[in-house]
Amino acid sequence: MQLHTLTIQEAHQLLVTKQVSSVELTQAFLQRIREIDPKIKAYVTVSEELALEQARKADERIAKGENVTPLTGIPFSIKDCISTRGVRTTCSSKILENYIPQYNATVTDKLAQAGAVLLGKTNMDEFGMGSSCENSAFFNTHNPWNLDHVPGGSSGGSAAAMSASLAAFTIGEDTGGSVRMPAGFCGVTGIKPTYGRVSRYGLIALASSFDCIGPMTRDACDCATVLEHIAGHDPLDSTTYQSPISNYTQNINKPIKGMKLGIPKEYFVAGMEAGVETALQEAIRACEKLGMEIHEVSLSHTKYALPVYYLLLFAEASANLARMDGTRFGLSVSEGAKDVIDIYLQTRREGFGDEVKRRIMLGAYALSAGYYDAYYLKAQKVRTLLRRDFEAAFSKVDILLAPTSPTTAFKLGEKTSNPLEMYLSDIYVVATNPAGVPAIALPCGFSKDMPVGMQLIGKHLDEQTLFQVAHAYQQVTDWHKRNPKIS
Ligand code: GLN
Repeated sequence: MQLHTLTIQEAHQLLVTKQVSSVELTQAFLQRIREIDPKIKAYVTVSEELALEQARKADERIAKGENVTPLTGIPFSIKDCISTRGVRTTCSSKILENYIPQYNATVTDKLAQAGAVLLGKTNMDEFGMGSSCENSAFFNTHNPWNLDHVPGGSSGGSAAAMSASLAAFTIGEDTGGSVRMPAGFCGVTGIKPTYGRVSRYGLIALASSFDCIGPMTRDACDCATVLEHIAGHDPLDSTTYQSPISNYTQNINKPIKGMKLGIPKEYFVAGMEAGVETALQEAIRACEKLGMEIHEVSLSHTKYALPVYYLLLFAEASANLARMDGTRFGLSVSEGAKDVIDIYLQTRREGFGDEVKRRIMLGAYALSAGYYDAYYLKAQKVRTLLRRDFEAAFSKVDILLAPTSPTTAFKLGEKTSNPLEMYLSDIYVVATNPAGVPAIALPCGFSKDMPVGMQLIGKHLDEQTLFQVAHAYQQVTDWHKRNPKIS
């Protein structure tokens, strides 16, 4: 039996029937990480000792039959921008290379309370800025389906770890597609929940009004299980919703027949890779066969999504990253400094990569007196229009279907010299974040031997419908069951 390819549900069954222990399961993943990860490079840090300690505790819990949850004893990894007490949290940046948080993010705490086992931290574009993981200050992560290709970004390490079976589930973060885009590129399932559904406490902020933490898993059912455990109100994050979380997993088999599926016409335009278009069309037909009604809808401001997203992101990021100044967290370059301003300048010059510097400069520019109204305020107004587009669409349909990217995973190095081209690969995933609505990405075929991703976009707080439709689709297709052969 291959322990590393089990779904959470399957692994849970083996654990509670005592056919396998959490220590065995954890060791199987640690062994696989040792063997395979040198090729993939998904992990920045492997927390082996902690993992084995948590696994032993999980086994005790299971032996006593006390407080056993569906995640007890299940090994997972987490993106390196989410705080883990005692475990290095770098955001894949030199400026935080040796930063060890003294507290857990709420998500980390919730998973620990559920009894999940932390295997380690996954690589990402520096501070979440990028779409290929090539902006990591440490190393590139490779796409398990073809090692010459990128895994997507910025949660590329999490997606690659999931796809290469280096964890039973992983946690990513999505500010502008960073869960969905790499999930699509690597052929795994991942959800960006409604903004405010999952606490951001302890997440190192990129753009605070967009950031969402979300799981990546083998299938929709596992995704529902993990979200159930990490979602909910948190007194430490005042933007979290008070409303109760529905029992996603229990309700996942509820019928979808008669539901209205909207196809946003702005997402199906020239420029899409032919194989991506074909896979998407087949997915639409599969949904139709499942009894859904198909309707064309329009999200007419989609063409502004990319500029609005990037402008607002630059602005928020430039403010958020001000705290990385050499006096509080991580790196401090004080040698030869005459005063504290010198420390700020030297630390930031040495600690931040090019993309981070570019965004801080553009963001500071957009927020400066004289430009604020023309850029930042204008973008906020158009953001409202993007949100209204979704509201109008959801007055006609229950859920939307769209691609996650216009192409499959591109080659390493293909877009690094052209930041604009890199930004363009986010074209389908960025509109949901300014609008705050949830979206789940899942595999729907292959093009040029690489996975194709689709996303289902839902109403605010309606993750339930996303899970139902994704699950129904995965009952009649097997794309999510395919695993890459890692040479
Ligand atoms: N590609 C997006 C960006 O570069 C991803 C951001 C994110 O979701 N963390 O901004």
